[in-house]
Amino acid sequence: MKRIAVLGSTGSIGESALDLVSLHPERFEVAALAARSNVGRLIEQIRAHRPRIAALEDAEAAETLRQNCPGTEVVSGREGLLQAVTFADADIVISAVAGAAGLAPTYAAVESGIDVALANKESMVMAGDLLMPLARRRQARILPVDSEHAALHQILRGFGSEEIRRLILTASGGPFFHLEPALLLQVTPEQALRHPTWDMGPKITVDSATLMNKGLEVIEAHHFFQKSGDDIAVVIHPQSVIHAIVEFRDGTMQAQMSITDMRSAIFHALAFPECLDSRLPRLDLFSLKPLEFFNADLVRFPCLRLAYEALRAGGTAPAILNAANEEAVAQFLTERIPFSAIPNVIETVLQASVVEPVADLEQLLETDRIARRRATRACQTLTDA
Ligand code: NDP
Ligand code: MG
Repeated sequence: MKRIAVLGSTGSIGESALDLVSLHPERFEVAALAARSNVGRLIEQIRAHRPRIAALEDAEAAETLRQNCPGTEVVSGREGLLQAVTFADADIVISAVAGAAGLAPTYAAVESGIDVALANKESMVMAGDLLMPLARRRQARILPVDSEHAALHQILRGFGSEEIRRLILTASGGPFFHLEPALLLQVTPEQALRHPTWDMGPKITVDSATLMNKGLEVIEAHHFFQKSGDDIAVVIHPQSVIHAIVEFRDGTMQAQMSITDMRSAIFHALAFPECLDSRLPRLDLFSLKPLEFFNADLVRFPCLRLAYEALRAGGTAPAILNAANEEAVAQFLTERIPFSAIPNVIETVLQASVVEPVADLEQLLETDRIARRRATRACQTLTDA
């Protein structure tokens, strides 16, 4: 029986993870649940899964939770999220909070020597230089949940890094892949939130439309698989059937295919090192549309270019990129800046920031705060213009 703590349990990944727990009650049980403020859904989840501890960042919502769930210890605030990690006695933490808020609890899990199934790519983007060595020291595994990285993790079992020439991440291209670039200025949040192949939370859905999601994934892949940006390519594959491809030294390639359902990638991380029957629908080869591949153009997708540049710059540059992106996406979703301004805001913040070597968690959180403030100002300048 694996005991699981789910951070971000009310989100898209969190719900999928709990669905897997329900599909495999003999294998998994829930030790902790955590979210921000969605108390209604968390009450339902607690009644279904009976965790020992539950956390809500919002203190008022946590009080309502406490009154409704007497059998579960309820904690709140940012501290609460950390307590949910450390006091749950979990075998594995599913890190699925959206955005930089996922970094501190992910770090806490690894520091406590607990395995992490990592959906929260932002924490690896910001702090891969800290998390990977920390995991080795604490003998904690960080297992990728992001579908591309879960695919690479699966393919690369048993291969040495010298045998690998290139990693290729596939991207759906998002809802605007076929749109004239000039029309991007008029794109609404509602249109950006309509993803062609995946059903996900709002922030990552916008990131998929700008291709920043893939940019973050290139940085994530660099940390997981120790390859430089030059050896990590992105290919647009609108069908989202192939999740990643490895090109080996001898020129051969291996691709991983699965259903377009995040439960498949989450299950891989939860079951690891075993490969078990997921009880999920299987991929039907005869129902597939023809598989297509297109170049991911860095001029057309400036967010992808900025991510490659931040990876090349190293140090705190990816954390700055991530913070500026989160702020710009939030401002786009509340209709304060146009879609096509997202990369401009990020580039402005990167140019105004001094990149430092990564020192510790506190430095990265402070870098995040400063970059967010700069991004807010950059958005304000755009609005005033
Ligand atoms: P959602 O927006 O659907 O869910 C976010 C979850 O995080 C919610 O449970 C939310 O709680 C919680 N949350 C947000 N902020 C805080 C906070 N400050 N403290 C505690 N909890 C918080 O996001 P997704 O599930 O789509 O994405 C989660 C992570 O997984 C992201 O990092 C994303 O990049 C990654 N990912 C997602 C994929 C997907 O298919 N969705 C695919 C690959 C990666 P509440 O509901 O109360 O607001
Ligand atoms: Mg992905």
